[in-house]
Amino acid sequence: MSALNLAQLQAVHVTDHPCLVLAGAGSGKTRVITHKIAHLIDSGLAPQRIAAITFTNKAAAEMRERTAGLAGRHARQVLICTFHALGVRLLREDGQALGLKPNFSILDTGDVASILKDCAGAATDLATARQWQWAISALKNAGLDARQALAQAQDEQARQTAVLMQRYEERLAAYQSVDFDDLIGLPLRLLREHAGVREKWQRQLGHVLVDEYQDTNATQYELLKLLVGEQARFTAVGDDDQSIYGWRGATLENLKRLPRDFPALKVVKLEQNYRSTSAILRAANHVIAPNPKLFPKTLFSELGEGEPVRVQECDHEEHEAERVVARIQTLHAASNPPPAWKDFAVLYRANHQAKPLEKALRRAGIPYKVSGGTSFFDRAEIRDLCAWFRLWSNNDDDPAFVRAITTPRRGLGHTTLARLGEFASQRKVSLFESLFSPALAAALPQKARDGLAEFGRAVNEQEYRARHTLGAEAARGFLAEWLSEIGYERYLHDAEDSDKVAAARWSNVLEFCDWMAQRAGGQIADAVAAGATAQERSLLDVARNIALLSTISEREQEQDMVTLSTLHAAKGLEWPHVVLVGVTEGMLPFRLEDGGAPETLHTRLEEERRLMYVGITRARRTLVVSWTRRRKKGREMVACQPSRFIAEMQLDSATQREDPREKLRQLRAEFARKAAGAALP
Ligand code: ATP
Ligand code: MG
Repeated sequence: MSALNLAQLQAVHVTDHPCLVLAGAGSGKTRVITHKIAHLIDSGLAPQRIAAITFTNKAAAEMRERTAGLAGRHARQVLICTFHALGVRLLREDGQALGLKPNFSILDTGDVASILKDCAGAATDLATARQWQWAISALKNAGLDARQALAQAQDEQARQTAVLMQRYEERLAAYQSVDFDDLIGLPLRLLREHAGVREKWQRQLGHVLVDEYQDTNATQYELLKLLVGEQARFTAVGDDDQSIYGWRGATLENLKRLPRDFPALKVVKLEQNYRSTSAILRAANHVIAPNPKLFPKTLFSELGEGEPVRVQECDHEEHEAERVVARIQTLHAASNPPPAWKDFAVLYRANHQAKPLEKALRRAGIPYKVSGGTSFFDRAEIRDLCAWFRLWSNNDDDPAFVRAITTPRRGLGHTTLARLGEFASQRKVSLFESLFSPALAAALPQKARDGLAEFGRAVNEQEYRARHTLGAEAARGFLAEWLSEIGYERYLHDAEDSDKVAAARWSNVLEFCDWMAQRAGGQIADAVAAGATAQERSLLDVARNIALLSTISEREQEQDMVTLSTLHAAKGLEWPHVVLVGVTEGMLPFRLEDGGAPETLHTRLEEERRLMYVGITRARRTLVVSWTRRRKKGREMVACQPSRFIAEMQLDSATQREDPREKLRQLRAEFARKAAGAALP
């Protein structure tokens, strides 16, 4: 506890009142949470009775690690997870009350879009289906089901959406599946409507801690309220200046409501920033200053003035990427001891901005990872495998069925699958169940009949074997056999024009299976990632949990790599050296010029400003803000202006004219002269 200041200690010791820690970036809010968990355990609260909710799986993994450092092995029993993973847990244990079997599946956005496309009728294209998806998601996030949405519909479009939502919900029920929004909405309904379940959870949870509270939405808040009940033992930490998920329904209302809904609330403010130098913090404070203040707060740093914040002006994105990489190399080569690659982060507004950076880093041979974009687990080949896992754990998961039976395609034609689909929807049974119907078999030619029967038999057998496969070696063996049985490697080669691409995808598959086998062998500590209700015992348990939370990025931890990340995904994190790229009008703030009602424009500008604030405050020691005179917009190059936020940072230092590539050349020459023999990176 010595590593906490007085205000932090105070927050840690408020245990029998609801507590809100409201403070700026880098002031140790997340640190309060980890120390508070340790303190609660120390004071005798059973670790299983503590739940800590983070914003991302990655943040959960990091918190688990930090807590383990403080509280030792007890920490492993604390439930540290995202709201969504907590939702999974609630539904697994008690979803039966809502008619949900414990082996329900979770659909990814691709599945949802294709189901909606199906529900809306043949004429609907995927783009329209995605718009429906967005609309339905917004309704769900506002806490409405189809019936309520229909009752509230004001115009024809809203009515249509509600009708479609109704059909969509029926489908999900038939598939024993839920979508991402349901992971909050259904647990909420569960706790609201079933007093027994609610009381059980309220008894179970002795203290709930929530990080990044400013980015919770209305349904998450309701869920929290029901979880903590009258006792209201919880700690929420947040910063209104870092609320950046308004576009996904997060609302600052939740911060305002807290003191009203919980009159016993103790509010603690933290003012010292332990992360950034004064130069960086000053720039951050200037940028956020024009936003209206929900809660006034001041932040100071005792880490000294530090290096001035630099602005870098570039021609275009490729040029920018090269300069950024040169800068990283220069710092790496010129400092003693050299910083690790993982001390660097390059942050940007939109995913596509990673591409030139990736290329430049590859060329320089610098290891990097892209977070917040397409992760390993989102790759098509991994999702293919997960479809099989989903089918093993829940035979009624139709979207998984379709994906598994078509990757690889097993000589079953479109007509056969269409017949199967028709049959299933007429009888209102799942596709898998239809496989075994004599009535269907009678209506199919011999070859199709055999193909379907064979598929059904194979899935049943694989499921059985996975259920009885224990330990890493056995898992490795089983997975290898299964892949060869379904002919997945050959499928990849058939599907790809280039053998090189196919081989790369196959190597992802092998890497993934190896990772699964390690998990099955219990070699990855705490791999349960909070989605599981019980310990993972068999390979089937492992497969099920992976299929559920397939975006876990534990794999990426601890590797020495430069981080490329969107600003949104960088929330809560910190690096010694940060570069913000593409800081132009149109990117950050994003597309205000496209217009809109004045008040929405205003709200959007405020949120963009907070995003910039989040970006700046990720940096501990050095910060470069970079912009380009031109950028690609679609296929064209358009002229750009520096973001207004750059002027608002009120930097004393002039724009950096010197090109880091020049500096790097000099360094290299000097190095060569000294004939040190060691090659520069
Ligand atoms: P953000 O708003 O970005 O989420 P935060 O308020 O959660 O930031 P932390 O990440 O908890 O801040 O802390 C920022 C940094 O300051 C971390 O490196 C942390 O270890 C350090 N820190 C926090 N409190 C102290 C303290 N009392 N003494 C020393 N270092 C501290
Ligand atoms: Mg934090």
